[in-house]
Amino acid sequence: MKVPYNYLPEEFKNVEKIFKNWSKLIKSSEFTLGPYIEKWEAKFSEFVNSKYCVSTNNGTDALILSLKALNIGPGDEVITVTNTFYATVGAIVAVGATAVLIDSDERFQIDVDLIENAITSKTKAIIPVHWGGASPDISKIQKIAKKNKLFIIEDACMGIGGYVKNQHTGTFGNIGAFSMHPLKSLNVMGDGGMVVTDDQKLFKWMKKYRNHGMIDRDHIEFWGENFRLQPLQAIVAELRLKELKNTIKLRNQNALMLDKYLRKLYPLVQIPERKKDNTETFALYMGLFKDRNNLKKFLLKNKIEVKIHYPLPLHKQKAALKKCRFDRNNLKNSELQSKCLLTLPVHQYLTKKHIDFTLKKIYLFYGKKFKV
Ligand SMILES: *Cc1c(COP(=O)(O)O)cnc(C)c1O
Repeated sequence: MKVPYNYLPEEFKNVEKIFKNWSKLIKSSEFTLGPYIEKWEAKFSEFVNSKYCVSTNNGTDALILSLKALNIGPGDEVITVTNTFYATVGAIVAVGATAVLIDSDERFQIDVDLIENAITSKTKAIIPVHWGGASPDISKIQKIAKKNKLFIIEDACMGIGGYVKNQHTGTFGNIGAFSMHPLKSLNVMGDGGMVVTDDQKLFKWMKKYRNHGMIDRDHIEFWGENFRLQPLQAIVAELRLKELKNTIKLRNQNALMLDKYLRKLYPLVQIPERKKDNTETFALYMGLFKDRNNLKKFLLKNKIEVKIHYPLPLHKQKAALKKCRFDRNNLKNSELQSKCLLTLPVHQYLTKKHIDFTLKKIYLFYGKKFKV
């Protein structure tokens, strides 16, 4: 049996609906912005319950657009977590600011207890990441931001369909940034992203900046860029959104089974706590595993396609020598995690058989007998 990590061949097995809607688009030749984009933006803001949405060409540019909208640039510092995808820090550096990297907690999320210590007179914003599709302690982050007059830009790139107390990820701060890259919970056939906000001024600015700062065909208000989402992808996004609830439900069912039996292997295996009021998207299913590297080899040999997110925390990357500030002694958790972390396949096309097979092999590796 093979337990594939990649769900895209399954997901795009049946593309008739996409082709049908694409042919409508092709007839209309609305290839940049236009009605398909507007329709998608309205759908997405309704879905996350946010006043405004601006779609972008990807999640990285959604973050860059958010930082620029809040006027963050050279001389400013932005606090984020070291255990994230490159783009979170890359976006901060792209606007000329310095990224302040702090440690992750036992749930692989930003350690909120370390945030206040990292604040200086230069700090302008916090970028909490909904890492793997789980959420950090967002109410604590809101309190810290309020007390210290900092902006919050949520990196909810893996968080589409995720909730904290029935409130969608990305709607807790000033701006939320999302990605629709193929590996995210709501994905298109390539790149795509969104920002959402309740602030009309920020919305209007971001909408203009995304399209060269244009007010109309013949006038620009300020210099902008081209961060536009492709209407072809907006059509895919709209169709995928209809499946999202079910996708998340199935991933959660798989995660629940993995949780149940992997927790029995404690302390060989450590599975993060699942917060009661949170709905996770399970963009990633991560745990800490003893003898990780050998387990990884063993599982790959058994055609269980596991990954590591990531073997090197960002502060240990060569790139972090520049434009990043961190306290090497205060990043122990993420360094430890990077040595033991393993990401298991959990996606919506895996059945109980796949999950049982995965568990059986992990139990076997540790010399334990797996009984359902
Ligand atoms: C994927 C991802 C991004 C970047 O999104 P792209 O659409 O790939 O540019 C940023 N942050 C996090 C946490 C991500 O997972």
